[in-house]
Amino acid sequence: MIAVSTLLNELYASGVTAQREGEQLVLDGPRSAFTEDFINKLRANKQELLSCLEWKALFNERAAIAERDGGYPRLAAELIAFEDCIDQWLCANPPHCTDSSVCLHCGKPLEEGTVVPVTVVGDAGRRGALHTICAGRWRSLRRWEGKTTLIWLLQP
Ligand SMILES: [Zn+2]
Repeated sequence: MIAVSTLLNELYASGVTAQREGEQLVLDGPRSAFTEDFINKLRANKQELLSCLEWKALFNERAAIAERDGGYPRLAAELIAFEDCIDQWLCANPPHCTDSSVCLHCGKPLEEGTVVPVTVVGDAGRRGALHTICAGRWRSLRRWEGKTTLIWLLQP
């Protein structure tokens, strides 16, 4: 998504605005910005651009709410909005769970009766499990994955 966010920044730098209307990517700007090469890049990345616009709209909405209703300064409001987006990303991208008898983090078997495993809901509603000692690190790594995926939201 980082490369697509770069494409989005190219759009804005060219004076082009982009909006999502359902599954349509609506662009407006000077005709000179729409070179054949650029149009081909847009077509090839349309779904990713639509996804970026959706994330950006959510981020802007959350930041505005935190700033206006919460009384936070803009930078703090953007950090709050970013954390909200990470929460949403984690919900939209559940962990891939294939075998609930092994820990999602370390891959070692879960010993029945000795350690109470932490259970999580994964993709397709499947259950995954973690050793109690692995749960904190696993959550941190999942959150880190979301942050690295959406870090472009914090770029001007
Ligand atoms: Zn483990």
